[in-house]
Amino acid sequence: MSIRIDRDKCDGCGLCAKICPGNLIRMEGEGKNRKAVMAYPDECWGCMSCVKVCPHQAIEYYLGEDIGGKGGTLQAKVNRKAIEWTACQKGCLLEKIITSREASNKY
Ligand code: SF4
Ligand code: SF4
Repeated sequence: MSIRIDRDKCDGCGLCAKICPGNLIRMEGEGKNRKAVMAYPDECWGCMSCVKVCPHQAIEYYLGEDIGGKGGTLQAKVNRKAIEWTACQKGCLLEKIITSREASNKY
């Protein structure tokens, strides 16, 4: 269970490092070269906070074999009302799911 961070999409905002409850993401570099790095991949428990908070969809979560199979990933695009989840495998779209933020916070 872990995440992958796309260095080319990352602008170094640091939001993912701040939100990770396990302090598993580290910021490295200065200025334009400041990037997020997954420092402890074995310790990620898949809370998805970093995936949702990234404003550039630079973070993908690796899906388990029971969901997406090997190499499957999940990305999130969040707006005020909904979260758009995109599941991919080997660069191809598997599924797109939209969840309402209001409805998911009822529980
Ligand atoms: S939230 Fe996204 S853009 Fe910001 S540091 Fe993390 S990976 Fe980079
Ligand atoms: S999914 Fe959760 S535990 Fe894993 S790196 Fe992201 S914020 Fe941390």
